[in-house]
Amino acid sequence: GTSEPWRDFDRSQVYTADLESALHYLLRVELAAHGTLEGAELKVFKDFVTLVAKLYPVGGSVVKLMETLSDWLLGLPVELVLLGLIMHIYKNTGREISGVFLGAELRWVGCQGSRLGLRGYPCSLWTLFHVLTVQHDAAPAALDGSGLEGEAAPVLQVMRRYIRTFFGCKECGRHFEQAAAASMDQVTSREDEVLWLWNQHNRVNTRLAGGPGSLSDDPVSPKAPWPSPALCPACHEESNGVHVWNHANVLAFLRRHYGASNLNPRYSL
Ligand code: FAD
Repeated sequence: GTSEPWRDFDRSQVYTADLESALHYLLRVELAAHGTLEGAELKVFKDFVTLVAKLYPVGGSVVKLMETLSDWLLGLPVELVLLGLIMHIYKNTGREISGVFLGAELRWVGCQGSRLGLRGYPCSLWTLFHVLTVQHDAAPAALDGSGLEGEAAPVLQVMRRYIRTFFGCKECGRHFEQAAAASMDQVTSREDEVLWLWNQHNRVNTRLAGGPGSLSDDPVSPKAPWPSPALCPACHEESNGVHVWNHANVLAFLRRHYGASNLNPRYSL
């Protein structure tokens, strides 16, 4: 709604409400813009659903929904899906699972904007993929048998294909694709997968910082290198008077920050 109350939140935590809202928005708004899915697009969508169903670190109705969708999509004998059908299943299983109309629910917490139209979905999509890289690092066997386990950096590759194919901000998609083409193939370990996404996100933050009219620059959440010294003092070092990141400490911080035990269920859908 337009007059939602401000929800208090802690910037050192990750809120499941944001992750759930990301998935709802993705299915209901972003994918609904496509009439049908076939061939390569359908494959990108299936891989995304599989990734989330396998790696989403906590339970809840949204994961059940992704699992249901994943089973259903993988069992499909056809190569073309009418999105109306997916939406039908989405609405019905959603209702069945949680007893509510999931359709109406979007609840941003850590991704709240100080005004409507700021932050929200793009913030939550970054957050979701950070969580998935960290979970893949913590529990790689979760992808066994999914068809994704053969890729060197499956979370990044699925993200790359999703963003390129479906992300509503086309300019963002072009930037991300450029970065991916330049260096994603060099990522061969799960640690590097976590750090690559962190580094890429900071490149975007730096590019957007102070810039005029970026997609959703919120004065309450200004763009800056992350994590701040306040959030992670050990991540920052100085070498010959120049700021450098301590990558080992950044990795440890990311594992903690985006790890399952730092997910806060408050305001969850
Ligand atoms: P976001 O940048 O969305 O970050 C969300 C949260 O993640 C932050 O609040 C913080 O808690 C955490 N975080 C911040 N930095 C990092 C990091 N380095 N590593 C881990 N966690 C971090 N907008 C454009 O205008 N131009 C673009 O080219 C563009 N490209 C994008 C590409 C992708 C793949 C995505 C998902 C978004 C892109 N956007 C782009 C949107 C932009 O990056 C922000 O998502 C949007 O402006 C909202 O910003 P925000 O303040 O909510 O923080």
